Amino acid sequence: MYQAFIGLEVHIHLSTQTKVFCGCRSAFGDEPNTNVCPVCMGYPGVLPVLNIEAMRMGCIVARALNCHIPEKTWFERKQYFYPDMTKNYQISQFASPLGQNGYIDLEGRGIKKRVRIHECHLEEDAGKMIHSGTVSLLDYNRAGVSLLEIVTEPDMEKGEEAELFIQQLRRMVRYLGVCDGNMEEGSLRADANVSINLPGKGLGRKVEIKNLNSSRFVKLGLNYEIVRQSALLDAGKTVVQETRLWNENRDETAPMRTKENAHDYRYFPEPDLPIFEPDAAFLASVDASLSELPAARARRMASEYKLSEEQIDLLCEEKALADYFEEAVAAASVPDAALRISNLLLSDIRHLLARSGLEPSDLAQFRLSARRLATLVTMLSEGRISQKIVKQTIDLVLAEDKDPAAIIAEHHWEQITDLALIDTALQAVLETEATSVTELRTSSNEKRRKSISAYLVGKVLSATSGRADPKVVKSRLEEALKC
Ligand code: ADP
Ligand code: ZN
Ligand code: MG
Repeated sequence: MYQAFIGLEVHIHLSTQTKVFCGCRSAFGDEPNTNVCPVCMGYPGVLPVLNIEAMRMGCIVARALNCHIPEKTWFERKQYFYPDMTKNYQISQFASPLGQNGYIDLEGRGIKKRVRIHECHLEEDAGKMIHSGTVSLLDYNRAGVSLLEIVTEPDMEKGEEAELFIQQLRRMVRYLGVCDGNMEEGSLRADANVSINLPGKGLGRKVEIKNLNSSRFVKLGLNYEIVRQSALLDAGKTVVQETRLWNENRDETAPMRTKENAHDYRYFPEPDLPIFEPDAAFLASVDASLSELPAARARRMASEYKLSEEQIDLLCEEKALADYFEEAVAAASVPDAALRISNLLLSDIRHLLARSGLEPSDLAQFRLSARRLATLVTMLSEGRISQKIVKQTIDLVLAEDKDPAAIIAEHHWEQITDLALIDTALQAVLETEATSVTELRTSSNEKRRKSISAYLVGKVLSATSGRADPKVVKSRLEEALKC
């Protein structure tokens, strides 16, 4: 058996309105080459200006990853030629990354492990090449978009750990509001490095799998590599240090190029950008933006509410969902609110939200506000309305944007607690359903009796438009048949 070492380099697009060194709009999916200017097109003689919001967001991630922010941080030029990068160099950070020596604790699915973060650095993204038939097209809208690169130490050992790392990081940056985490659109992408060696021998010769755009591919690619490299060593061969690509159709990695050495980039300090020295006000604004992070929140919510680990995990996936849940629980005044709200939220409400064309992040505009949900759950828990009425009322809240209490009052949907009213409805049903009643009285088939009883209860419920409590109806029915 070999020991495996995995280190990740994750790129995230920061959600700044404009690019990192010019005022062009930073957006995905716009008409090609519409968000460009002389700066991001690399015209000679133009001057980059640092977008301070990109620096701030980068530092927020660095702090969330427990990194140290140095007193001075600056930019270098990383020289290489590629058609999607018009200046022939990328402005990046080399000697003074904005975040250094941090860590993240992986936790979940049987994994518990601290992964050290080597650094986080700010840089500009390149444009996009689209190869189509015999031509290659270039879209520079992405050139100059703020990119934060997060580099881990090679502390992971399995594809599953790297997958969890990506998922936790994604959740974290979305909570922080600094990246939309959309891996399909390339807002978060990863390069995965992996080597193997005999136990105790330290790092092996690494292979890099480039440009992975799903956490599952990260897992599959790495596990594939571990098996492939083990077979090479078993056969007495050596691993070639190279960059490979994941082929999602064949479920395997294939060579792309042998890795160029870092010193070929001829890094030197970017002369057109001043050294950045974060002042107290800047650092205070970074700290002010550090909301409760998802892992801490999941831990707190698990101790505060009696819910399963799976429910907590689902609720915490989106900050907006967790916020909505906690606001509703706080507004409801019944002891079993958390479980009832969680159940409704993770089933019916999520479907209704999707049907209204909304995402969990749009919950703030959802007509069924957390307070309105709290009203319904309180009434349900107090036995004033039935589960069925909850659903009917939610439909009307969504259609008419009215308060649930008003809707329930207007339709007289409060549960009937007056036994005389229930008995009246019951008597009417017993008269019209005489054959069933006789069979119920005389049949010795237990199963048959049960189903007739359920049928009769159902009749009474529909006669009262679902406003009678089924349990009460059942006991009144048994009572009525005894005499
Ligand atoms: P490079 O100079 O090739 O970019 P770095 O030292 O900067 O390499 O590391 C890049 C990434 O690769 C980091 O995430 C690091 O943890 C990981 N890494 C470095 N060496 C190894 C190795 N021998 N095995 C596995 N991962 C490694
Ligand atoms: Zn520009
Ligand atoms: Mg490197």
